[in-house]
Amino acid sequence: MKIIMLGAPGAGKGTQAKMIAEKYHVPHISTGDIFRANIKEGTALGVEAKTYMDQGLLVPDELTVKILLDRVAKPDCAEGYVLDGFPRTIPQAQVLDEALEKLGEHIDFCIDVEVPDEHIVKRMSGRRACLKCGATYHVEHVPPKKEDQCDICGSQLVLREDDRPETVENRLKVYHEQTQPLIEFYQKKGVLKTVDGTAEVQDVFAAIAKILG
Ligand code: AMP
Repeated sequence: MKIIMLGAPGAGKGTQAKMIAEKYHVPHISTGDIFRANIKEGTALGVEAKTYMDQGLLVPDELTVKILLDRVAKPDCAEGYVLDGFPRTIPQAQVLDEALEKLGEHIDFCIDVEVPDEHIVKRMSGRRACLKCGATYHVEHVPPKKEDQCDICGSQLVLREDDRPETVENRLKVYHEQTQPLIEFYQKKGVLKTVDGTAEVQDVFAAIAKILG
């Protein structure tokens, strides 16, 4: 099963993507996580990606598409995957489409996690991330067991640079301009499903599980 998660930054698509990956036994692929891992390792890709990410801008399509296509070609993706944060532009979606078509494959579901802008900034300021293992939390909605400490690896949780209010505003603008047109793109393909992302995490997941079956 091949699934794409759509939604504004902070809509909760990452949390839902992880839950889908666990229930349906498919890898969770986040281009943001791949970039952050590269930043941590100090690779050339990481150094370049960081200059865009810190400003709330998208990393150029050429770079992003390459890392995504390499990732989905790995053996663990043979039975499908859930993409979180890709595609984010129409050209990215077209490249993915062409690559899948060549293999005789297609996207099964595109889940749009809908959350109005006014909720987003508030949510993002409550978001906490573990820079060591990539886990994410929310001080109200998905709190860690111990304050500011990662449940998985015990590291100190932080407010990511790109979750700061001034960057979030930029990311929302970029989302509306470049990513939102994908809703129509996948609607036309007949695979778009919309869920209310303002509900509680478990309720959003229940709605998604009903769609995926
Ligand atoms: P995320 O963790 O998905 O919110 O991504 C964090 C940042 O990584 C984004 O704000 C972008 O700068 C960059 N990024 C992640 N995925 C993509 C993508 N598909 N295209 C371009 N930039 C991306």
